Formats: sequence, structure tokens, C-alpha cells
Amino acid sequence: MSKLFKRTKILATIGPAVFTEQKIEDLIMAGVNGCRLNFSHGDYVERDQQIKWIRQAAAKKGRSVAILQDLQGPKIRLGDIKDNHMDVHAGDELILDHACETHDGGNVIPVQYNLADKVKVGEPLSMFDGKIKSTVIDIVSKTAIKVRVENEGFIMSHKGLNLPDTDFGGDIITEKDMADIEFGASRDFDYVALSFVQSASDIEKLRQILLSHGSTARIIAKIETKKAIESDEAMEAIVKATDGIMVARGDMAVEAGAEVVPIVQRKLIAMCREYGKLCIVATQMMSSMVDNPEPTRAEVSDVANAVIQGADAVMLSDETANGKYPVETVKAMKKVILYTQNHSHVSPINHEVTGEFKNYDAIAGGVVQLAEKIGADLIVCQTASGATAQAIAAQRPKLPIITVTSNPRVAGQLALCYANSAFVRPYAENYGIDLAQELKESGYIQVEEGKKDIFAVVMSGHKEITGGTDTIKLVRI
Ligand code: PEP
Repeated sequence: MSKLFKRTKILATIGPAVFTEQKIEDLIMAGVNGCRLNFSHGDYVERDQQIKWIRQAAAKKGRSVAILQDLQGPKIRLGDIKDNHMDVHAGDELILDHACETHDGGNVIPVQYNLADKVKVGEPLSMFDGKIKSTVIDIVSKTAIKVRVENEGFIMSHKGLNLPDTDFGGDIITEKDMADIEFGASRDFDYVALSFVQSASDIEKLRQILLSHGSTARIIAKIETKKAIESDEAMEAIVKATDGIMVARGDMAVEAGAEVVPIVQRKLIAMCREYGKLCIVATQMMSSMVDNPEPTRAEVSDVANAVIQGADAVMLSDETANGKYPVETVKAMKKVILYTQNHSHVSPINHEVTGEFKNYDAIAGGVVQLAEKIGADLIVCQTASGATAQAIAAQRPKLPIITVTSNPRVAGQLALCYANSAFVRPYAENYGIDLAQELKESGYIQVEEGKKDIFAVVMSGHKEITGGTDTIKLVRI
């Protein structure tokens, strides 16, 4: 039975390719556990429509599906380019002007941010996700800078700029982000992802802002700047401050060089596991499936490696937001996850290493060992805050974790957490056992051939007390 449950979760970006409730339902049924709303694009009316469809589809199918709000952060974009296309050549000099409203086809290009008081002559600036490289050669006015292009190619409207060596003064939460956070708080998102995080203090700032809006959303730090990954200590400080991270490989490759990405990914997953934080691997996981019905061998290998390394979730971007084959991509990804998890082993971790040992960490470690040694079919976890379920997940068990909580917010957040299938039921003393019974009767969890019962290890605690886990029971269901 456990072979059919995928332990690594799928987070899918929602966009024009899946802009109906039916399409979102199809994604969920194909294996999506969380939906990412990318606030770099779209408007609030569109967002409300998508939120409604995600929640309706999840409720209809009896699933918990997380919603993640991805804030644009200080991602600087070009403005409108005439006819949405402009060829550029090595040696071309372009003026990027925040005051320019309309591009007339010439070399003065509108840009959505005033770079003139931030950049210095000699700093690198790339456009279109790193496809066009250039260097700043002059600050021409209070709103405009001049760059010299280094390679042949083209630019399009609203494509992103990267300035890896520019100091933005530590102010990464923009006015647009502030408005989006306020919108998100009233829509009760499960996660808020912060782009271009540079240090732990960015996370602390966001936490204060979220609290001031009454939001209990968990924070995902997108790791993509040079500064965030400049040392193991820098990465560790961010991991400790946040609730989870996203290995944002797209911008990371442009900012710090593509060659750093695999090693940074491995280190970040290991750190997240050590500190019991959520880890999402993102970008270009199956990007050839934007246009093709099959992934490449390299993409399959990339997803499999994230599973072997023990990521909580793998993310799809354009594949589901704008691609021709969104549902097929999710199905292909799920197939790779299932095969890989069933033919490899993610090693357990020793929490004593971190010195952040809590009672539920101890019980979680014990429960996983016990469940695997005695050949249990699943682990059932009754949880108030989700902390115990996450501590079990940090051990990367081979068994599914069926989690029950009376708090829908906790269930939504656990939807992205390794091996967890979270359900909301009113609190009762043995509601974990009742839920497992219900799921067995409905066929959601199946008894293996030749067996009569499901053998489960059940963890429970005092009613609704965070960290109150105190009991392990062996139960036949
Ligand atoms: C990335 O850069 O990999 C990423 C996930 O961020 P975005 O898609 O917002 O650029």
C-alpha cells in the first residue's frame, strides 16, 4: 500500500493553461498537493477566481491542497517593448529608463524600477532570465542608466533583470509586496514565499508584517541571491529563521552561476531536514513538457535526484501555468516520484546533531523506527499544530503518514510536507483511529492482498496542545 502513496509532494503553478475549475481538479487528481500563485503576474480578480476553484476542487475531492502565495519581491522587469520583441547585438548601448513610458523601437527601454540610484558603473546586468548579458557603463540621469550588451539575442516586454552585484540596501519587501501581503492575509493563504531573500532579517521582517495583518501563513524563503548562498553559515541562518525554503534555481543560476545550483540544492535539503523545515525544489524540473508530451531523460533524473535527496516537494512552473500538457506533466512527475521512492532510501537524521531536541522529535524518531521494524502499514498522527507530523516527516519514513487535525490551516500546510496526507476532523480522543477506519472503508487506504487489517502506529497527544504528543499505540484497523 505504501508504494502507492507518493512521499515527495508536487507544487504546481496555476496560470492560463489551467484557468478553469475542471482543469484545477484534473491537476489535483493527477497528483498535485499544492498550488502556487505567482504574484509577479495576474490581477486580484483572477487570483480570487483561482483561489475559489482550488478550494472548491479540493473540497469536492476530500483533499487538503496548500495554497502558496509567491511574492514578486525586488524582481526588476522591463516595461512594454514595442511589438513585444527587440533584437539586440553585442556592443549595442541601451538606456534603461524608469521615466520612459512608451518604447518607440529605439534604444531607450522602459524599466519598472529606478536603477539609477542603486547601480554602479562596471556592475553586470542581465536581461530575460540571463539570456542577454550586459554591463553598466554610465548613469545618465536620475532615472536612467546605460548598459553595453555583450551577446546577440532579443528582449521582450516584462522580462526579468538580474543584478547580482548590486546592493539594494537590504530592502527587499516592495510596495507591491506590501499590497499583495494584505490581499493574501485576507484570503488566508497557507504559505507566503519571499523572493530574493538575502538574510534571516528579511524573514523576520516578513513575519512581523504577516502578524500585523493577523496572518499565520508559514514563510518560504526563496533562495536565489548570491548573498543568501555566500557561505554555509549564511544559508543555515536563513533556514533557522524561516518555516521552509524554496531552491529557486532559475534566478539562482543567473545570479550566482548555474554550476553552483546542484551543490547548493543538496546542502539546503540537508539543512532543512536537520532543522525540520520544509524544502521545495523549483524550476525547470520538467520544462521540456511545456511543449512536449514526454520529459527528457535529464529531467526525469533531476526529479529523481530531488526525491533521493529527500526534498519535501518538487515544483512545476511554466509546465502547469502555460504549458500544453499540464496534467500529463503532473502524471509524469508522479510516476518518477513513486518509482524512485520505491527503489531508493532516504537516510534518517539524528536530531541530536542540531541541539534543538524537542519531545516530539524524540517520539517521532522512535515512532518511525518502531513502525518500520514491526512492519506497520502506516503511521497515524493526531496533531494540533502540525509540529509532530512535521517531526515524523523530517525522519523521512518509508511509510505514509495519515495526519488528522481539527485545524484546516494545519492540514493545508501539511499538504506540502513529506509523506503527509492531512485530514480535518473535529477533535475526539481517538480521531486518528476513527479516520484510518473511515479511509479503509472508503478504499483510500487499502489492505494488502492476503491480509485482513491495516497495522498502524498511532501517535497522539493532549487535546489541542502544541508539542503535547505523549502516546504511541499499535493498532489494527
Ligand atoms: C526561480 O527563480 O527559480 C523561481 C522559482 O522564482 P520565479 O519563478 O518567481 O522567478
